[in-house]
Amino acid sequence: MVKNIAIDGPAGAGKSSIAKLVAEKLGIVYVDTGAMYRSMALSCLRSDIDPEDKTAVIGRISDVEIELKYENGAQHIFLDGKDVSSDIREEKVGKAASSVARYTEVREKLVALQRELAKKQSVIMDGRDIGTVVLPDASLKIFLTASAEVRAKRRYKELTEKGEACDLSEIEKDIIARDEQDMNRAVSPLKQAEDAILVDTSEMSIDQVVDRILELAHED
Ligand code: C5P
Repeated sequence: MVKNIAIDGPAGAGKSSIAKLVAEKLGIVYVDTGAMYRSMALSCLRSDIDPEDKTAVIGRISDVEIELKYENGAQHIFLDGKDVSSDIREEKVGKAASSVARYTEVREKLVALQRELAKKQSVIMDGRDIGTVVLPDASLKIFLTASAEVRAKRRYKELTEKGEACDLSEIEKDIIARDEQDMNRAVSPLKQAEDAILVDTSEMSIDQVVDRILELAHED
């Protein structure tokens, strides 16, 4: 029987690191829906389409092919047949993703893809609207959060470890702006589903969060 886990929450709450580990432990597939919005945004940026230009972004949708593939258990995302898994991680792509994610037409295309994946196998899927819109019948829903300060520090550490030059206060400002945009958009805003369990990771280690979610998954 297919059993799905939904994880939603703001940028930098640790959703993807945690979902990946939980997927491994439970032997189910991890689906990173943010990677899909990022790929759509990357496609626009590469064609000089302004993410704020709704008509131009929507015009692009039917030409874009986004696919998730798994290699040795790791998720890779393909844009028009090319692996863009690392290209989509740039901060500017995250910002542009938050802009293109406001458009209903973009969401419709990507939500259909997400539901298709969750129909054929058990998945743990992370995003902003998974518990509320994409998988309202998920067997477990988690709303993962942490203070903006903690999330900014985590993102800063991640970027500096990769050798990217960045500024902590800029990152915190960007995170807050992205949360604002994601929480206040008209279509599928970021919000906790009524039946989701809130997990605040500000004072928790990754292992503690993973154990908590495994506990909840086993109770289910
Ligand atoms: O999670 P990540 O930072 O990769 O997501 C990038 C952006 O994509 C988010 O800021 C959000 O605007 C959008 N997104 C969304 N719905 C999802 C996943 C991501 O709107 N399910």
